[in-house]
Amino acid sequence: MARWKGAFLRTIAFINQKGGVGKTTCTVNVGAALAAMQKRVLLVDMDAQANLSLHLGVEVHRLEKSIYTVLTNRSTAREAVFFDLRKNLSLLPANLDLAGAEIELVNLVGRETVLRTTLSRFLAEEAFDFVLLDCPPSLGLLSLNALLAAQEVFIPLQTEFFALQGMSRLIDVLELIRGRLGHTIEITGIIPTLYDGRTNLSREVVSEIQRFFGDKVFRSIIHSNVKLAECPSHGKTIFEYAPSSRGAQDFERLAREILRREGAVPDLEPALPEPRDSIDEVPRRDVASDSSAASGGPDRLPVVPAPGPLS
Ligand code: ADP
Ligand code: MG
Repeated sequence: MARWKGAFLRTIAFINQKGGVGKTTCTVNVGAALAAMQKRVLLVDMDAQANLSLHLGVEVHRLEKSIYTVLTNRSTAREAVFFDLRKNLSLLPANLDLAGAEIELVNLVGRETVLRTTLSRFLAEEAFDFVLLDCPPSLGLLSLNALLAAQEVFIPLQTEFFALQGMSRLIDVLELIRGRLGHTIEITGIIPTLYDGRTNLSREVVSEIQRFFGDKVFRSIIHSNVKLAECPSHGKTIFEYAPSSRGAQDFERLAREILRREGAVPDLEPALPEPRDSIDEVPRRDVASDSSAASGGPDRLPVVPAPGPLS
């Protein structure tokens, strides 16, 4: 963890190249739960679908400044951030423009560290406790920017068949970021999501996830809960929409566990150090779009993968 303005800052990317596994739901509600616990939280929407921004009720079509204008150097982060959109909860929003950013950035030297550079400048003058980055369902340039701006990775995993499919590819990308770019980043949390306690399958998949990831798996599982599915369309967090729901309880427990584990977070390098190298040296196919992973590409893992070292 790094120290900014006298406080510890944790920067966490919520990532899984599969869509619909609960990344955005986890980012917004973990953020809201931490904010309610008096932590100052910045949420960063890295997905052109802007689900995170919409979930918080932002009218994204009206945005003049967003993560897109930040990444393309048309505005500063400070100009684009909604400060205290809710108490203790700020947002760097996205909109559909972001879909063009990957193409615009592709020829830029240092294209994978644009976010890190601009965010570190911004964070040096702010006093956030947490930065939570909601990644798109791919391992392309936007996800890479998020990972290089983060020190920790949380992986939401849907407790369904093939939950672990594609994980080896994500782990490869993290290895690449660590090895070739010298960026210190750790998987520090696995969040089982959309859990249905009535089915054997959900239970079996959680056991399997625990076999694979060991004690990185949070005890606080996120159950499938209809209120969680409803609240995005109301532009509300679960604590605003249904504060006594199972979903709200699950996210409050999860946030407590995240805080309890703080001591267990490896002492990482100062946040956002300059990268040692450029990813230009890495064959592009390693970091390009992940569509093969999402659709069952060559990295398919067996349903019960052999446990192995992860970091
Ligand atoms: P991702 O960001 O990984 O694509 P989302 O968080 O957007 O996934 O979730 C996908 C869909 O599932 C959304 O419609 C969301 O409201 C719903 N959802 C997510 N988590 C839950 C849950 N625990 N219970 C019920 N619905 C959920
Ligand atoms: Mg999402």
